Amino acid sequence: MKVLVTGGAGYIGSICTEELLNAGYDVAVFDNLTEGHLLAVDKRAKFIKGDLADREFIHKTIADIKPDAIMHFAANALVGESMTNPSKYFRNNVCSAINLIDAAVAANCLKFIFSSTCATYGTPERIPMDERLPQKPINPYGQSKLMFEQILRWYDQIHGLVHVNLRYFNAAGASEKFGEDHRIETHLIPNVLKVALGQKENVQIFGEQYATPDGTCIRDYIHIKDLAAAHMLAMGRTTSAAYNLGSGEGYSVRQVIDVARKVTGHEIPVVVKEARAGDPPRLVASSHKVTAELGWKPKHARLQAIMEDAWAWHKKFPNGYGD
Ligand code: UDP
Repeated sequence: MKVLVTGGAGYIGSICTEELLNAGYDVAVFDNLTEGHLLAVDKRAKFIKGDLADREFIHKTIADIKPDAIMHFAANALVGESMTNPSKYFRNNVCSAINLIDAAVAANCLKFIFSSTCATYGTPERIPMDERLPQKPINPYGQSKLMFEQILRWYDQIHGLVHVNLRYFNAAGASEKFGEDHRIETHLIPNVLKVALGQKENVQIFGEQYATPDGTCIRDYIHIKDLAAAHMLAMGRTTSAAYNLGSGEGYSVRQVIDVARKVTGHEIPVVVKEARAGDPPRLVASSHKVTAELGWKPKHARLQAIMEDAWAWHKKFPNGYGD
């Protein structure tokens, strides 16, 4: 079975590509390398450099490759950036993605796994968060992903495009070969580990006046390998569905830093800054539905295990992919 992975040179896409190849799939990676890295593309995959904004090129690529399924990771995914540059989010995450599904439908490739996000829910009315919560995003990033989920529903109804929306919580950790390397790093765990590596003086804590026990934001960190495993299971679906994907445990920013101190042995100094625009105080997943319907369970749910894998990768590749 052949899978086209868009964004397969990025953090989540690279590790899903690796897992697909390990499971015996034939994989083609499509990436424009603006966020991704050539060295993050597993050597066993075919690599195509291209941009989804180029409608003709993605049509030609899919017509040539004739994939049986598409995993779509290529997107912009920073809450903070989306609050200052919404246009980028709507153009790349919605308009360019429409080119992709039009090409898929034209080539009769009707299985689509979509990287969605818990940010589609906004500030949830209850915790843990299940899939029945209303989706009311509070930033353009979450809005762009919700818009595309809505578009997919119509493509299923009209064209029979079976899609699985996987609403990720906070992806973290690494495989042995591939890990998290953003050219401008805004994520908490890699920034904390950069301090432990001596590449940064301190970690900034964005806000400590939230309505949480220690005042900092709570997130649900899911091991990237568990996330990849859910993608494999989602491929088995014959009808469309949506699943939340998290470990089911929440950790505050201060708790994450404490775990990193334990794992790295570094004191990791902090400075408290203003809250970041668009951040909900608490996001924790219920994994009840994905466990019941796909049999998925996280194998590395403890934050310490996730941090240890991230730390091992960052120590092995202190400059990331080096580009
Ligand atoms: N955060 C922080 N300092 C940082 C990076 C992030 O305090 O250097 C906070 C951020 O405000 C959020 C949490 O850590 O509450 C997780 O942020 P991240 O950017 O890793 O993921 P997000 O939840 O935005 O997808």
